[in-house]
Amino acid sequence: MRQLYRLYYRSSQTPSIVSDLDSVVQQIVKSSIRNNKDDGLTGLLLTIQGCFLQTLEGPVDSVRNTYARISCDRRHRDPHIIFQGPVEKRLFSDWNMCARSLAPTDKAILDVINAKGKFNPASLTPQSVHDLLTAVAKIQRRTALDTPLTAI
Ligand code: FAD
Repeated sequence: MRQLYRLYYRSSQTPSIVSDLDSVVQQIVKSSIRNNKDDGLTGLLLTIQGCFLQTLEGPVDSVRNTYARISCDRRHRDPHIIFQGPVEKRLFSDWNMCARSLAPTDKAILDVINAKGKFNPASLTPQSVHDLLTAVAKIQRRTALDTPLTAI
């Protein structure tokens, strides 16, 4: 069986995308779902105060190749890997990619923002990112369950 691998990184949004963030993120998610499906990847993408925080999980080669492609993307800059390594099971298996926008007042990030109440990406640790992303995944699952299905 192929080794399952997970990677967390953070990056800064390029200033030019900030005014049109929603549609840029929609475009990213659309390409990501298509590509990640083919590559056996699952994950979550967060936007928080000018930053991206993303997790990718799947076969080690797919994670590394996709991260290499993402890190050259001019829609963000200064990508930093916060954690990467083999894992036993997927934590984000519901989504080939899903994006969620967080504000510092969101309950999910209150635990990981610093004492001054400002989100500081440089202070993120593997554990705090793990806690944040898994908390958001729970909210995302609950929201999906709460949202009534639209009849087609
Ligand atoms: P296409 O789907 O053909 O590109 C779609 C459109 O996106 C293009 O028409 C173009 O307008 C625009 N576009 C594509 N690349 C760029 C670029 N570098 N700069 C500006 N506009 C561009 N890709 C994944 O496959 N999986 C991921 O999980 C993933 N996560 C991402 C997270 C972030 C924060 C960012 C910024 C990008 C992410 N991407 C991801 C996108 C990745 O960087 C590549 O753009 C994408 O994988 C290229 O796929 P494609 O050839 O199918 O592009």
